[in-house]
Amino acid sequence: MTYSRLTHLDCARCHRRHDADVLANLCDCGSPLLARYDLAAVRETVTPADLAGRPPTLWRYHEVLPVRDEANVVSLGEGMTPLLPLPRLGEALGVPGLLMKDEGLVPTGSFKARGAAVGVSRAAELGASTIAMPTNGNAGAAWALYAARASLRSVVAMPVDAPEITRAECAVSGADLYLVNGLIGDAGKMISELVSSSDGELFDTSTLKEPYRIEGKKTMGYEIVEQLGWRCPDVILYPTGGGVGLIGIHKALLEMRELGWITGKLPRLVAVQATGCAPIVKAFEAGERTAEPWPDSKTVAFGINVPKALGDFLILDALYETGGTAIAVDDEALLAAQELCARLEGAFVCPEGAAAFAAVRLLRKEGWLAEDEEVVVLNTGAGIKYPDTVTVSVPTLEIGEKLPR
Ligand SMILES: *Cc1c(COP(=O)(O)O)cnc(C)c1O
Ligand SMILES: [Zn+2]
Repeated sequence: MTYSRLTHLDCARCHRRHDADVLANLCDCGSPLLARYDLAAVRETVTPADLAGRPPTLWRYHEVLPVRDEANVVSLGEGMTPLLPLPRLGEALGVPGLLMKDEGLVPTGSFKARGAAVGVSRAAELGASTIAMPTNGNAGAAWALYAARASLRSVVAMPVDAPEITRAECAVSGADLYLVNGLIGDAGKMISELVSSSDGELFDTSTLKEPYRIEGKKTMGYEIVEQLGWRCPDVILYPTGGGVGLIGIHKALLEMRELGWITGKLPRLVAVQATGCAPIVKAFEAGERTAEPWPDSKTVAFGINVPKALGDFLILDALYETGGTAIAVDDEALLAAQELCARLEGAFVCPEGAAAFAAVRLLRKEGWLAEDEEVVVLNTGAGIKYPDTVTVSVPTLEIGEKLPR
């Protein structure tokens, strides 16, 4: 049995073909590279029924993942997160058929673990010794921890304002961690300079600058479809920063269609951003193919504070091609949605995931979502990674003091 059916890398912009079996970053034209597979061979040898008996991790889709040798898989048990019905929250938002794909349950507490598992496994397989990356927190934390599991060194630079727990995750894993007085783009420039001066010793694993993080993240798309019994929902909402998850889910849907695992219309994909950082929404509304950098970006939903995405054209293509949309919600609305979700469903979602729930309400009000639609929200991480987003005002009592009835 062939573990991976990876054939080559394909430039997302100029479509030049690249060798997949050497460490690769961007195409000469500056665009991200996408992994391509011999899907005809997969179609002949694997059916959805064959997948049913495999272990419940993202590696169940190994034929369409890039790791050649199963022995090189670096795993902490990531994948096959629950797809939960949220009937009460759905009722409150006007869409009773609301479902949540809960990525708060993966190792490291965010869906970044998917990209890290596949990206680190493949980087190690291809001989990398040290990875280097900028991050808004969760990605750096995930890559540092998976790098430790793979015995790779890691260098991580993150904004000082990134969620504090992600510093601890990097530090405890032994990463070389640097805090930057700036945004993720500023950290990115510093990493880029360091990598260029490292004589090939450092491998740049910035968002979309290596081709395999997206492969890990695309498995969310495979899982949603498998968990629905090899059927698509009507709509998928995704809190969008660099957009890797959204691009990945779109890629997975196209692959599954080519594999004959799904037929018919694809789900409409929705990019959700914060009003304090909404470059994709602005570009979508203007009908553009690329986005302008967002000045002075700011939001409590730190994972989607990305003023300029390298894969902006891929995000926008996915929205246009699926009849989707892009929408921004303000911090007040997303924090209210976070609380509502916890009160009605017992789910403490991250602020980024909460933004997507707030977007459901807006889109239903506008009539873009119909009441009878099946809508999947990606909760991209655990609320407990962001304790500061919740204001706790409770009484403190002296020992023996009577509790109020
Ligand atoms: C990184 C991140 C996002 C945005 O993911 P992209 O795929 O880069 O758009 C959303 N939510 C959380 C919790 C994140 O860490
Ligand atoms: Zn190119």
